[in-house]
Amino acid sequence: MHIVVCAKQVPNPEAAFSMFRIDEEAKRMVPAPGLQLVMSPFDEQAVEAALRIREHHADARTTVLTLGPDSARNAIKHGLAMGADEGVLLCDAAFEDADSYTTAHALVAAIRKLGRCDLVLTGRQAADWDAGVVGAGVGELLGLPVITFAKDVHVEDTTVRIERVLDDGTEIMEAAMPALVTVSNELGAARTPNLRETMRAARKPVTVWKAADLGLAADEVGAAGARRVVERLFVPVKNNRCEFIAGSPEEQAAGLAQRLRAAKLI
Ligand SMILES: Cc1cc2nc3c(=O)[nH]c(=O)nc-3n(C[C@H](O)[C@H](O)[C@H](O)COP(=O)(O)OP(=O)(O)OC[C@H]3O[C@@H](n4cnc5c(N)ncnc54)[C@H](O)[C@@H]3O)c2cc1C
Repeated sequence: MHIVVCAKQVPNPEAAFSMFRIDEEAKRMVPAPGLQLVMSPFDEQAVEAALRIREHHADARTTVLTLGPDSARNAIKHGLAMGADEGVLLCDAAFEDADSYTTAHALVAAIRKLGRCDLVLTGRQAADWDAGVVGAGVGELLGLPVITFAKDVHVEDTTVRIERVLDDGTEIMEAAMPALVTVSNELGAARTPNLRETMRAARKPVTVWKAADLGLAADEVGAAGARRVVERLFVPVKNNRCEFIAGSPEEQAAGLAQRLRAAKLI
């Protein structure tokens, strides 16, 4: 069984808000120098799901697939240190400024080139832009059944069985493989690589493909092939007014009621 996990490298979502700046003119996020880049946490959980499947299927092989700059190799190395078997990095100037469609398009070309693939796992959404589109897009372009928001993923013979997160509970779904599953944080914590696995990861193969290696023309990937237009990118300005009502607790309560009534809130 071959499991491909699509994993994106993102600016550390735990970083202080002050480390992010928006260039409204260029409509892009400008990371502060020193901002750490990590594998998107939802994608770590997708790697974790693949490794849990392998615990029950000794024949399972896991490939971590990433589209990004050369630095994204570190996200792949992290997946390999967690226990994945090999990595593929799609790295080419032509891939820059991809939108959800051109990202999915390139990932699909790579999955096809990898040959046999029984299960594609993605995160429920990337922790930087949170679009939550690429996973379903990859499934659609590959013509695979897609099941989203998995908190548990099991493989039995040629069927993938998912416990799926709902607003008010869970549901169990099955699909014939090959299939695509997007993994949610409810799966539970991803394993932390230990020293031995981290050292072994250094010897695991990472293949780098450019657009031409995938048979993709420069005008169908990255910004050139993008279908989404970013109209405006900005941090909304919030004007919060705060008033402290003085007096005894009774006077404060009466003052609060007066103001709420004046604002027609009660
Ligand atoms: C308003 C806005 C402005 C943007 N501006 C820019 C910009 O100026 N420059 C720029 O480069 N990007 C920009 N982007 C980001 C770019 O469009 C996204 O990277 C791309 O659309 C993928 O969407 P996403 O990151 O939200 O992934 P999602 O759809 O949220 O990702 C879902 C899952 O798909 C997989 N996945 C997604 N991306 C990758 C990847 N690269 N490699 C492997 N797996 C992946 C992961 O498993 C992930 O969990 C912008 C996005 C928005 C919303």
